[in-house]
Amino acid sequence: MNLLQNKRIIITGAGSGIGRASALLAAEEGAAIVAVDQSDSVLETVQTIEQSGGRAMAVQADVSDEEAVAAFVARCVSEYGGVDGLYANAGVSGGRKTLTELTVADWQRTLAVNTIGVFLAIKAVVPEMTKQGGGAIVCTASVAGLRANAGGVDYSASKAGVISIAQTSAYQLYGTGIRVNAVCPGLIETGMTKPTFDLADERGRRDRIGQINPTARAGQPQEIAEMACFLLSDRASYVNGQAIPVDGGLSASHPWVFPRI
Ligand code: NAD
Repeated sequence: MNLLQNKRIIITGAGSGIGRASALLAAEEGAAIVAVDQSDSVLETVQTIEQSGGRAMAVQADVSDEEAVAAFVARCVSEYGGVDGLYANAGVSGGRKTLTELTVADWQRTLAVNTIGVFLAIKAVVPEMTKQGGGAIVCTASVAGLRANAGGVDYSASKAGVISIAQTSAYQLYGTGIRVNAVCPGLIETGMTKPTFDLADERGRRDRIGQINPTARAGQPQEIAEMACFLLSDRASYVNGQAIPVDGGLSASHPWVFPRI
């Protein structure tokens, strides 16, 4: 209950899925939360935290807008007195277009949110964290950033970029006491993947989802939140520059076919 006691943490994409689960868990673990999302669903996240006795404020902002990002970081500092943690998690799927269907505009939007959005948030928190003598930054990448077959080319490249940002930033921030890590979720049941789950339900095939990983199911947002909160905490004090899969074991394998004999 006190993994993140007295930490001041900004979480983007906190209106739904992984971001909301992480905000609720971090608040339960004692953190004061700045919950950021472009959707007004972030108000509900904050209401839920407050109803359980936690501390949180909601900010509606687009993470790809540099001024808006600087403003929510400034708000964390003015209201809470500093910033100890950032979970740069907001993202978009990029849709289901194939290589030849994707346009430059599609690429630009996917990269603007998933990759540049992460960069902007890191850039904005680093001066304050440096002043404070340290901090913890976590980004949501994806197994799509590690290997093929978990998203379109734009989405996968955007997430490979997030992994690179985490690794490169960890070194750029050498000796500052700021750690930067990425979480790489596998298939998680959230707003983003709802169409996949709805389709499976429609066909009566929900039990097929997640069968290609050895845990034999899809993941829940809470299971990513657990890793994010650990990485944001001082218990992860020697974990830095890593891209950590939380995917039921999916990325541990060579290509594999379920044995039928
Ligand atoms: P979700 O759709 O439930 O939540 C994403 C949230 O981000 C939404 O509330 C949305 O409004 C917000 N958002 C989107 N663009 C934004 C912007 N420009 N500015 C501010 N907020 C914005 O999906 P999720 O699965 O919880 O996604 C969270 C992260 O996890 C994303 O980065 C996603 O790419 C990543 N991810 C998800 C899965 C999965 O299977 N669900 C797997 C790997 C990685």
